[in-house]
Amino acid sequence: MPQPREGGSPVPGAQGLPAARPADAPAGLADRYGRRATDMRLSLTDKCNLRCTYCMPAEGLEWLAKQAVMSAEEIVRIVRVGVDLLGVRELRLTGGEPLVRADLVSIIAALRKAHPELPISMTTNGVGLDKKAAALKAAGLTRINVSLDSLHEETFADLTRRPFLDRVLAGVDAAWAAGLGPVKLNAVLMRGINDAESPSLLAWALDRGYELRFIEQMPLDADHGWTRRNMITAAEIRDLLSADYLLSPDPRVRDGAPAERFEVRRRVAGSADPHGPVLGTVGIIASVTEPFCSDCRRTRITAEGKIMSCLFSREEFDLLGLLRDGASDQELAERWQDAMWVKPRAHGMDHVGLDAPDFVQPDRSMSAIGG
Ligand code: SAM
Ligand code: SF4
Repeated sequence: MPQPREGGSPVPGAQGLPAARPADAPAGLADRYGRRATDMRLSLTDKCNLRCTYCMPAEGLEWLAKQAVMSAEEIVRIVRVGVDLLGVRELRLTGGEPLVRADLVSIIAALRKAHPELPISMTTNGVGLDKKAAALKAAGLTRINVSLDSLHEETFADLTRRPFLDRVLAGVDAAWAAGLGPVKLNAVLMRGINDAESPSLLAWALDRGYELRFIEQMPLDADHGWTRRNMITAAEIRDLLSADYLLSPDPRVRDGAPAERFEVRRRVAGSADPHGPVLGTVGIIASVTEPFCSDCRRTRITAEGKIMSCLFSREEFDLLGLLRDGASDQELAERWQDAMWVKPRAHGMDHVGLDAPDFVQPDRSMSAIGG
C-alpha cells in the first residue's frame, strides 16, 4: 500500500489563515475555520475479512505489522487524552473490521471503565457479530452500525467478494437482541449492482425497526475505480425511494450528524391522504454531492495512531510515535490540537470534474483510514 505523506509540521496556511496554531487558539480540537471536533473515530485495525469493491482490492492490502498497530493500553490512553483534555464527547470504533481484533471486548471494557458516560459505538461489517454481540454489550458498547449493501446472496457476494450474507444478517439480529440499538445499517449503492434494491432494503429495515442510511460512494477505494459519473448521488437515492415512499425532512436537529434524516411514509397510489403514519426514518450521507464539511465535528485516529483531521487529509500527524517516545498527556494533546488546527476547510469533492486528471485521490483507502 502506498504510504501517505507524514505530517508533523503544519501545512501552509489556507486562504491567508495562519497554519501554526496561535497561543490564543480556542481550547479543545479547534480549527482555523471555527469548527471544534468532539466526535472521535478510532480505527482498531486495518485488517478486514471482506473485500468490498468500493473499499478494498480483491487481493486485500498489505496489513500493518502487529507492533505498528495501537495496543489496547495505547488506545485507552489516547482516548483518555481526547476525552479528558480535548473535549471529545463521542467515540466510534471502526476499521478495517473491528471484530477481527481478538482483544475487542476487553478494549471496550477498559474504555467503559475509564469513561462511564461516554457514548461508544462501533461500525462493523457484522461477520461474527452474532457470537460477540452480547459480550460487546456487557463490556459497555452503547450502539452499533452494521454495513449491509444487499439482501440478495449473489449481489452481497459480488459487492463484498465473500458469501457471508447469512452471517451478517445473524449479526444484525443478535445486535438488536443484545440491546445494541438503535441498530443503524449502512448501505453504499453501486450503479447497476444494488441501486435498484434500495426501496426493498428500506422496506426490510423499516419492518424490523432498524435505521438505514445510504452513503454516497466516495473516492476512497484502493482500486481507484471511483468515477463521479458512476456514483449514485443523494438526489438519485431520493428518487429511487420515492417510487414507494414519501420522504420528509426529520424535524429533529441534525446537530453535526453526517446523515440527513428523513421521515418515511408509504406512498399510496390514488390516496387522498399522502400523510399516512411515519414508518421510521432513513438517512442519506451525501458526502460528495451535498457535503457537510462546514459543520464537521470529526477527528480520526488510524490503527497505527496517526491523526487525520479529515478522510481526505493528505497530511497525517503521528500520535502513537510520540506516545511511544514517552510524551506526556499534555504533549500528546498539543500535537492533536496542532493536527486539527490545519483541518482543511472542505474536502473539495463537490467540485465539478472530480474524475478529471487534476483530482488527486487520497493514498489511503477507507479501510486504512477508518470510516
Ligand atoms: N468494516 C466495517 C464496515 O464495513 O462497517 C467498518 C469499516 S468501513 C471502512 C466503515 C464504513 O465505510 C462502511 O459502512 C462502509 O460501507 C463505508 N465505506 C467504505 N468504503 C467506502 C467508500 N468508498 N465510500 C463510501 N463509504 C465507504
Ligand atoms: Fe472491510 Fe468495511 Fe472495507 Fe468492506 S467496507 S472491505 S467490510 S473495511
